[in-house]
Amino acid sequence: MEVGFLGLGIMGKAMSMNLLKHGFKVTVWNRTLSKCNELVEYGATIGETPAAVIKKCKYTIAMISDPSAALSVVFDKNGVLEEICSGKGYIDMSTVDPETSSKISEAITAKGGHFLEAPVSGSKKPAEDGQLVILAAGDKALYEEAIPAFNVMGKKSFFLGQVGNGAKMKLVVNMIMGSVMNAFSEGLVLAGKSGLNPNTLLEVLDLGAVGSPMIKGKGPSMIQSNYSPAFPLKHQQKDMRLALALGDENAVSMPVAAASNEAFKKARSMGLGDLDFSAVFEVVKFSNSS
Ligand code: NAP
Repeated sequence: MEVGFLGLGIMGKAMSMNLLKHGFKVTVWNRTLSKCNELVEYGATIGETPAAVIKKCKYTIAMISDPSAALSVVFDKNGVLEEICSGKGYIDMSTVDPETSSKISEAITAKGGHFLEAPVSGSKKPAEDGQLVILAAGDKALYEEAIPAFNVMGKKSFFLGQVGNGAKMKLVVNMIMGSVMNAFSEGLVLAGKSGLNPNTLLEVLDLGAVGSPMIKGKGPSMIQSNYSPAFPLKHQQKDMRLALALGDENAVSMPVAAASNEAFKKARSMGLGDLDFSAVFEVVKFSNSS
């Protein structure tokens, strides 16, 4: 199966690498084109623009940072829309809001193309290991055709119905994750300030119901102030912002998420946006420093 891949950031690089390793022919494009070179070493070919990738491939996947970037690769000059046509499929796996996804879907389908949104749950390591959870919605036939690629990139795929439902599911998941990360950070600070060993807290959490892969995975590095990015904090704040907007639309009161969003915003203002989202721990530490 030949696929195009737009966006070789932390996630896109790992996902396209998996496709290559499993025998897919992959044509890659990235805004910073030099990032394509590593993939070429594994057999990928380079498309000079998103339009060039679409022209070459029947199916193209995108994994781009945020709504404005996702729109840009579709609507700008040399973008996806210039070459999408009947018989071609576009699968956007970026985390965006339902409105952005719908706008892209309408433009693609107006030109006869097929569209699927398919954001993912899971971070850098699951992407490397092909263990993502894929939250797809949109064109059911395209979903069925994409299953071989999804099976390589993920451990489970959901088809959630109409365009927007995948985006919504992803935002709900990440809103919960961002709030849990803030609560966990407060717990780590409280443990330390009240004279407990934070490492012992990690052990206790791991043995009880509150423990989770996220706490187990991030806790030790947070205690060492190591925030090497698996999920950049600026993207987590984007997801909190988009989830809060979804809450606005549906009149859902979410004070915990709103407070968590403030902490992520503060972290960005402290220059921590490119670090892992667990660096929000620094905000909690800072606001409790005497
Ligand atoms: P990343 O490492 O920051 O990569 C972002 C990608 O978007 C890069 O390829 C970047 O190109 C590209 N990009 C940014 N602005 C662009 C623009 N205006 N036009 C074209 N391309 C642009 O982010 P990531 O962690 O891979 O995340 C990608 C998406 O997956 C995001 O929506 C994120 O929320 C979602 N996600 C991430 C994780 C995770 O754990 N990392 C997990 C699940 C979902 P350059 O290389 O040129 O900057």
